[in-house]
Amino acid sequence: MNKSCHNSLKPIVEDISQWVPCTEILYKCPKCDTSFRILGSNERFCHMCGQKIDWEGIPTHLAESYQESDDYNEHKKFIQRLNEQIQKGKSK
Ligand SMILES: [Zn+2]
Repeated sequence: MNKSCHNSLKPIVEDISQWVPCTEILYKCPKCDTSFRILGSNERFCHMCGQKIDWEGIPTHLAESYQESDDYNEHKKFIQRLNEQIQKGKSK
């Protein structure tokens, strides 16, 4: 059984893009890792694998300003934390 056929998945945070004055969160497909960088956050389905994407409650911008760290590992950790928040965010 392929359970992901009809179930929507939350997108995965890929990177954070710095704009002034806001900071945009870039996402990728949770199934095939295709970046939504170009398509933006309105894709209902992944154009590569057809995975339905659940954008409900998914932030497209960071609320607080984000100071990008020079340390790549810090940057990665921040993205990981963001992902954890998003993946468990809806079940309240
Ligand atoms: Zn995909």
